Amino acid sequence: MSTSGKYDIVIVGGGIFGVSSAIELARRNHKVAILNPDTIPHHLASSTDISKAVRMEYGSDREYHRMAELSIEKWHDWNHILGEEVYHEVGFLMLCKESIESEYQSFEKCSIENLAQAGYPSERLGVLGLKEKFPVVNVDNYPEGSFNPKGGYAESGRAVELLAKYAASIGVVIHEHQTVSSILIDDGQCNGVETKEGRLFHCQQVIVAAGTNTPLLVPEIQPFVKSTGHSVFWLKPSEPKRFTPPRFSVFTADISNTGWYGFPLHPRQGVVKIGKHSKGDAIHPEQDDRIVRADEIEDLRSFLESTFPELRNAPLVCTRKCLYTDTMDGHFWIDRHPEVQGLIVCTGGSGHGFKMGPIIGEITADTVEDKEHEFAARYKWRHLTADTIQMEEARNV
Ligand SMILES: Cc1cc2nc3c(=O)[nH]c(=O)nc-3n(C[C@H](O)[C@H](O)[C@H](O)COP(=O)(O)OP(=O)(O)OC[C@H]3O[C@@H](n4cnc5c(N)ncnc54)[C@H](O)[C@@H]3O)c2cc1C
Repeated sequence: MSTSGKYDIVIVGGGIFGVSSAIELARRNHKVAILNPDTIPHHLASSTDISKAVRMEYGSDREYHRMAELSIEKWHDWNHILGEEVYHEVGFLMLCKESIESEYQSFEKCSIENLAQAGYPSERLGVLGLKEKFPVVNVDNYPEGSFNPKGGYAESGRAVELLAKYAASIGVVIHEHQTVSSILIDDGQCNGVETKEGRLFHCQQVIVAAGTNTPLLVPEIQPFVKSTGHSVFWLKPSEPKRFTPPRFSVFTADISNTGWYGFPLHPRQGVVKIGKHSKGDAIHPEQDDRIVRADEIEDLRSFLESTFPELRNAPLVCTRKCLYTDTMDGHFWIDRHPEVQGLIVCTGGSGHGFKMGPIIGEITADTVEDKEHEFAARYKWRHLTADTIQMEEARNV
């Protein structure tokens, strides 16, 4: 077993949570290493996909709204630092089946109220407005909508790839092809990790940001954090221009009641990506073939028929089953282990964590330095009971 140089902090996992934390810690002069199996981005990581929605629309939840608002500012900074536009501010459209004022559309109504209070007036669209601005929408089923230009999507896999390179440029040591098999704990103090590839990494603190594998490494969170599978679909439209911004944007289609959301034509892949933010299926992170089922594709086709008829027969060029690291309450999980000194967990993205990457890094770094971050309280280590309700309001559960 070979031993590698001593670090202040070893981060287990190079997804958005790990990479963002590493950048923040390196900026604060900590000696940091990231360990990740294969390469960063890893093909099975939640962060690794062509796009993730970046939205300030969080229903009545002002804290998430504010976190997303600050994250968006930082995504612009990252675009600048990385020298490439990984965050695309193409706007965010909420499509509604009923009146936005109705109880049924309370997610959209509350989101619009929060936005307005924070100085982001949304553009309300009726049948005529939708037809003019977003002509591919079936207004018979979605007669109302609300468009906010401040929002869009991040090219997630690409962002992680470039952020990891940036992290390395500011001193973070990246060890790819290293899969942590156990955390070294001596007399209640964590002092390193061991990898399946046969190496030991010594450090003062370990941050486990291993996405869905986190509960395998830190079993104490297993009762509260599960992995669930969610399918995404890439479609090739016959008239790509009609799905290209500004004719199309990131959208939700009555999301809290249906789960459906999606993206405009991807600038590199030339596809429209659609997903469903709903309950998902319980899936073991290492013991599942992650195949998208035929009934899910049927469900997608019926959604397209009713929402974007031009896509009803569009070729499905790729499907992916991606795993949420789901906490029971839908909130992130970033805190010190209550019993093991020097062990920190940074996980629980719960299907909405990517956009918050820049702030997650700050919260983690403050946790390492025992400082209080303004958003940290709700992500602390907690003991959730079976009757815990999922609190992220966009999610269809
Ligand atoms: C289908 C889907 C759609 C989503 N849509 C959105 C969206 O639109 N907007 C949004 O904001 N969020 C979205 N999310 C959520 C978002 O993707 C996650 O919250 C975020 O990517 C989590 O990042 P992470 O770094 O915690 O995990 P991951 O990206 O999974 O990274 C974990 C890393 O740890 C590594 N690792 C695992 N085990 C080990 C080990 N033993 N040793 C070392 N390394 C290890 C993995 O290889 C991986 O690289 C979505 C998620 C999914 C699945």
